[in-house]
Amino acid sequence: MLGSTPSQVPSVAFNDLRRAASAQAEELTRAARRVIESGWFVHGSEHGRFETDFASYLGVEHIMGVASGTDALELAMRAVATSDRRTIVTVANAGAYTTCAALAAGLEVTFADIDPVDHLMSIDSLRPLLNERICAVVVTHLYGRLADTVDVRRLCEPLGITVIEDCAQSAGARSEHGMGGAIGHLSTFSFYPTKNLGALGDGGAIATSDPALANRVRQLRQYGWTRKYSNAIPGGRNSRLDEIQAAFLNERLPLLDAGNERRRAVIGRYADSATANVRVLPADGPHHAGHLAVVETADASRLAEHLRSYGVATEVHYPVPDHQQPFIAKGAVLPVTETKVGRILSLPCFPELTDDEIARVCEALSHYQSKE
Ligand SMILES: *Cc1c(COP(=O)(O)O)cnc(C)c1O
Repeated sequence: MLGSTPSQVPSVAFNDLRRAASAQAEELTRAARRVIESGWFVHGSEHGRFETDFASYLGVEHIMGVASGTDALELAMRAVATSDRRTIVTVANAGAYTTCAALAAGLEVTFADIDPVDHLMSIDSLRPLLNERICAVVVTHLYGRLADTVDVRRLCEPLGITVIEDCAQSAGARSEHGMGGAIGHLSTFSFYPTKNLGALGDGGAIATSDPALANRVRQLRQYGWTRKYSNAIPGGRNSRLDEIQAAFLNERLPLLDAGNERRRAVIGRYADSATANVRVLPADGPHHAGHLAVVETADASRLAEHLRSYGVATEVHYPVPDHQQPFIAKGAVLPVTETKVGRILSLPCFPELTDDEIARVCEALSHYQSKE
């Protein structure tokens, strides 16, 4: 015995990917075997089935599997950038994936500020940034909540600007205008293992109902080929969703809605338990996929320390806004984005959390005292 250390307290992990994998071990093993025995490892029948099924799930015409969510963003931007339009607009509080992809595509990034309540792109901040040099606005459905893509489209369309939805955190969220990912001109998904629809490795997809954009993305994801060995368009890449990952995703797509329901229930429990000095960002309906349980509080590191003393792990999504990251270091001033630094904290949120674990997080939240 090492004496009275916090290890005596059962801990609540931030995430535990083994649980979903072992609950589904048989189906996943069978899916892997199907692929191994087929001898077809790239763009085979599993990949075709996933593209078809995910398109009908979202209500779009075309899905293109790619190698990651970041690749999906990069290829979507490459598909719409022109020699005159070499800037994208996005938010700075969403983990820098879009910024990273834009830089990889050779594009400039301009940042819009966020709404202080829901932490999503502010339309009022976006409006004055739009001009004829912008190829795309990337709207991030951060934490799983759908941003108002219809309003963004209304602003962008008269200026010939494409709207790209980043659905990496919002797979399965739906609004009265349709599924998230079916509202913009193009949308991007990540199947990184921690996402709501996660593979057992990397993966991503681009969705659109525009046949010309779909065709362009299909060319860009395979070397710029217009047909085999005919490299007609520049800017092509090799970015494909592996057959084995597509087979795993075929096993998991049918579970997505139930998983999201459970995530929303977890966040609802936290909201019911939190004291007045902690605001749980609500995930109170199908327009939210419940990807992350994020709270806002005056001193996030003090709350993190309190939760740790109850054995509850936390993370911060995300600690440094893009415009303050060394790789871009722009002089931009984003007052609302900046006020959130040090005030946000993410709590454990995944469908396989047990009721005991949820109760433990709730207990810790209910005992958090304000400083005074
Ligand atoms: C995870 C994530 C991405 C990137 O996806 P990868 O598959 O890891 O490249 C992009 N945008 C957001 C908002 C994400 O959460």
